[in-house]
Order: sequence, then C-alpha cells, then structure tokens
Amino acid sequence: MSPTGKIPQGQLPADIEPILLAEKRAHLIGVLPLKAMPRLAQAGLDSTGEAQVDLHFGHAEIGNVYEMTGRLRATVRVACQRCLEPMALTLETDVRLLLLRPGERPEGLAPEVEALVVDRPLRLSELVEDELLLAMPMIPLHPVEACAAKNFVKSATPADKPLSGLNRLKRT
Ligand SMILES: [Zn+2]
Repeated sequence: MSPTGKIPQGQLPADIEPILLAEKRAHLIGVLPLKAMPRLAQAGLDSTGEAQVDLHFGHAEIGNVYEMTGRLRATVRVACQRCLEPMALTLETDVRLLLLRPGERPEGLAPEVEALVVDRPLRLSELVEDELLLAMPMIPLHPVEACAAKNFVKSATPADKPLSGLNRLKRT
C-alpha cells in the first residue's frame, strides 16, 4: 500500500480469500509482475513483463456454491524449439473454477468442472501462475513462415511426419 493509504488503480492484493471475494461479488483487475512467478519465469528466457488479471468472483450457476471466472494473459519470452531463437509467446487462458469450502460437494457437479477447495488465503500470483502454466505449450514454436529454421521444415503434417524426420531437425 502506498504511504497515502490509497490503493492505486489496478493494484492487486498479494493474498486473496476467494470465498470472501465471492460473497462480495468482487472483480479483480490489474497486472502482476512475472517476477512474482518463478516457475513461469523458469519456463521462459527471463522474467520481464507482467500478467494481466481479470477475475470475477460470485455465485456459480450450478449448486449453491461460488466460482471464480475470468481471463488471464501474459506474454513470455521463450526459445522457439525449432530454431532456438527467442520468441514472444502470448499465453491466454479462460478461467472457470468452482470455489468450495472444505467438505463441500455440490450435487450434480459435472466431472469436467474444475474445483478449488479453499481452506486458507491464497497467494494470487501462485494461482495465476498455475493457470498460465497450464496454458503453456509443451513445445513452443514460431509460426513456420516466421521461423528461422523454416527451410528445414517439410510440408508434412505432424501426424504423418516420421520420427526420423524429427531427428533430422535436432541440432547437434
Ligand atoms: Zn523458430
């Protein structure tokens, strides 16, 4: 908090209590530095930049439970796994998580619905980092036409590309 006691616009709390936020139908919008997300920084080339956070807390449509919905976005620098040159990779993910108190199991919950059991305040940066890591591709690649190694790419689709072809792309 700044010395004046005012929270600057877009300033996000370090820790959140999701159930309390849902009771207040809170909307968190702002940015978090990627420096606060060491696992994401490790997956990239550096930790510059920030994540855009836009999260709504409120009642879920099903059951008498709360949910967190919204969108997270961050641009990280990674190495293209084809040419190994740096590239900017935009991670964007829609979030929908039920917020359950310990022991709470709403009826009619579809198995694909993700739920978070909340029994303590959560570090917001960790929550955001978890979701962004899920959006991270296993093998980041430039679009072929923008890749420095495009001349090494055959026009085969990945499904029928033989393994021997993949091995030839590897640098020694
Ligand atoms: Zn590339």
